[in-house]
Amino acid sequence: MNWGVDGVTVSAGVGQERCHTEENGCYAKTMAVSPLSRPKVDVAADLALQVRADFPILQRQVNGHPLIYLDNAATSQKPQVVLQAVDQYYRHSNANVHRGVHTLSNEATDAYEGAREKIARFINSPSPQQVIYTRNASEAINLVAYSWGLSTLAQGDEIILSVMEHHSNLIPWQLVAQKTGAHLKFIRITPKGELDLEHYQSLLSDRTRLVAVAQVSNMLGSLNPVQEVIELAHRYGAKVLLDACQSVPHLPVDVQALNCDWLAFSGHKMCGPTGIGVLYGKRDLLQAMPPFLGGGEMIADVYLDHATYADIPHKFEAGTPAIAQAVGLGAAVDYLSQIGLDCIHTHEQQLITRLLDGIQQIPGVTVYGPTDPKQRAGLVSFSVEAIHPHDLSTLLDEQGIAIRAGHHCTQPLHRYLKLQSTARASVYLYNTLAEVDRFLEVLAEAVEFFTVALS
Ligand SMILES: *Cc1c(COP(=O)(O)O)cnc(C)c1O
Repeated sequence: MNWGVDGVTVSAGVGQERCHTEENGCYAKTMAVSPLSRPKVDVAADLALQVRADFPILQRQVNGHPLIYLDNAATSQKPQVVLQAVDQYYRHSNANVHRGVHTLSNEATDAYEGAREKIARFINSPSPQQVIYTRNASEAINLVAYSWGLSTLAQGDEIILSVMEHHSNLIPWQLVAQKTGAHLKFIRITPKGELDLEHYQSLLSDRTRLVAVAQVSNMLGSLNPVQEVIELAHRYGAKVLLDACQSVPHLPVDVQALNCDWLAFSGHKMCGPTGIGVLYGKRDLLQAMPPFLGGGEMIADVYLDHATYADIPHKFEAGTPAIAQAVGLGAAVDYLSQIGLDCIHTHEQQLITRLLDGIQQIPGVTVYGPTDPKQRAGLVSFSVEAIHPHDLSTLLDEQGIAIRAGHHCTQPLHRYLKLQSTARASVYLYNTLAEVDRFLEVLAEAVEFFTVALS
């Protein structure tokens, strides 16, 4: 895994695996699901029309209608290349990693570690060692809370979060605060639905040890000014963890440019399998942090009464990892990189501009979060005066349209906005303008039906 020497490019596909030549294994050949085989995307044309055929599930019908999948903020669909990578791994190379000295084990290890390299390049991590596999973003955040938080925080220390955090970036800190005596403080949002930077500045002090915020809110859709958040926190010597669940799948994220201390995200929201997530961290921090879970894989030398630990990233990967899922995430990263995150973000902003324009013309609809599409990622939460979000979701489902209804794992934010629950439509690279129009049409019909029925 000679990261520095290799100098492979960002768009490297599966076929470019450095140690898989024609002679030493058929991995490169049988894993020939390289996204490089798909035609290059024409940036001027509609992205969705060029990629839809890559996603088998988009061909199915739901309740007699073509599926319109607008629940991407909960999980994304998977392209053929990812399904094939997982399938091929099990069919051809399945073995445990870092253990056996036999061909399959070596292939499995190369595939698993090769995926780590792809992910590292994807977020511009200085090294693949700083990419730790977890089960999901929740586990990545818990890792930091239990390892760094429990060993570092003390009575009187302060942790700054925001009122818009997902429960996954709230509960771990509540647990750690209860155990250490640290205090939680919360950045408010402005009436426009943006992170209140002035309020943030008033919370920062020499007692601040950690700032943990979402780069993109999964309820408000707001693109938070994380660069400023990080710079300000560092002035007080505080560390910053970014919850990048809604950013890494949708826009270019560069951990070195951001200078964040940790970054957490899930594979399943970025075309990858469930069961795999990532924690990126700065090298010195990760090396200083004690292990989170103990077991096989994470050790150097074990005695009956003590043990020494493996170097990062293995120190944090106890037990047999999610190998096939990691390989699948590697294929997802190849796929997304080849299309280009800039291209995906631009496409989503077009969809959201149309969605925001249309939805605001429907009577009785309230939209949450920034009104300017440029300050948003690809999701919109809203409520309709006369219809409960769950009823709305059921009505849309009857027409094959999948949206989310509920509190979206942000109960405190809903309470803050004096809401019980909301509906949320969220887009990804494969959604078309026609789908957005169909969603608006069905929504308008539902609103009209309920308004007439209730009057
Ligand atoms: C989805 C999400 C999470 C949690 O991700 P899991 O995959 O459920 O661990 C955390 N934060 C945000 C902003 C999310 O959207």
